[in-house]
Amino acid sequence: MLMKQILAHIVLRLQFLAHGRRRRITPTLAGVSATDDYVTTQLVDAMYIVAHPDDSLLFQCPDTIRQIDDNRVVATVHLSAGDGGRKAEFWLAREEGIRAAYALMAGVVNHWSSSSLRVGDHRVSLFSLTSKPQVLVIFLRLPDGNFENGKGHPRYGAQSLLKLWRGSRKVIATVDGHDTYSRNELVDTLTAILERFRPRLIATQDYVQGFGGSDHIDHSLAAQFARLAHRNCSFSHKFVGYLGYPVDELRPNVQGDLLKRKQEVFYAYGAFDESVCNSEESCRGTRYAEWLSRQYIVGSETIGVVADAGYSQRVARGTVVALDPSMSSTEVGDATYRWTQNSGTPVTLSSGSGTEVTFVAPDHSTTIEFTLIVTSEFEESDESVVKIVVI
Ligand SMILES: [Zn+2]
Repeated sequence: MLMKQILAHIVLRLQFLAHGRRRRITPTLAGVSATDDYVTTQLVDAMYIVAHPDDSLLFQCPDTIRQIDDNRVVATVHLSAGDGGRKAEFWLAREEGIRAAYALMAGVVNHWSSSSLRVGDHRVSLFSLTSKPQVLVIFLRLPDGNFENGKGHPRYGAQSLLKLWRGSRKVIATVDGHDTYSRNELVDTLTAILERFRPRLIATQDYVQGFGGSDHIDHSLAAQFARLAHRNCSFSHKFVGYLGYPVDELRPNVQGDLLKRKQEVFYAYGAFDESVCNSEESCRGTRYAEWLSRQYIVGSETIGVVADAGYSQRVARGTVVALDPSMSSTEVGDATYRWTQNSGTPVTLSSGSGTEVTFVAPDHSTTIEFTLIVTSEFEESDESVVKIVVI
């Protein structure tokens, strides 16, 4: 039995070393700089990499709402301008729409600081919310691939992410005409952005189904480019894919207050985008209504060990409270969970190391904060903190 355990340990160790060798630090990392001091120093908790301006609102919300509610630093990277082959007014309005939506999500005035992020020879457009700068949006402004065939639109030279991916175009230009990217440059740029902000969660679209399904081809391509970039990163993080257009084939799973907020946020965006609905009435009977009431994760991959102590909770006095470390993960080996109470009336946890950890809330109002650290056989995670407000 002992020999079996030793052999298992050796196998796990070799797997770990093999994964370690696969990683590389991108050579463009040193070239990342920003014109905004806050952006220069800020790390990110969750970075979303999507194709079009409304994708995070439709397919990754309400997770974005819950993260912003918890004051986590959330950045959304938009690869495509979502131009649909139309003039600049159209895709600039979509950018305005996403800013309005995230401002509403954050519950602050819709005012943003504009800056740019220099990544090697490339410059991407970056905005942070003035009164809540932990919310960031980034635009690369690559041409929309055209839902019909993935071949792009004549106005922007029939360029597309699909052609870049397959190599039939060596380089594509941004719709504002300011930049060009080869396939490798796009992957290296995303890698450098990730290495710069070191998000614990990297979220993208459906990378599992591949091309040729019923999702928008740009969604699949954004997910594949994001996946290549995440695999280049050496810091500990979890990579997660969200289902796109076909999500309406599954049962609705966004309800109540979160559904209401998700709808309102999307309608705020829709006010700037004439191609989508922007009210309960205009969305009724459309696929938008179906997408808004759903959010599904299709897969995940982990580098290193990641602790996620779950979302903040508001609980009633004297009730049994369950802590939720289920978004934590390890690349190799089993996870062990270590919870430590930092503040609030002392409570007794049901168990210190498993996933099923509960405690009884005190009989008076207090705010309790816990730190979670996850360990695998070979590594220990950074700390993750959760607040439980007893009301
Ligand atoms: Zn889209």
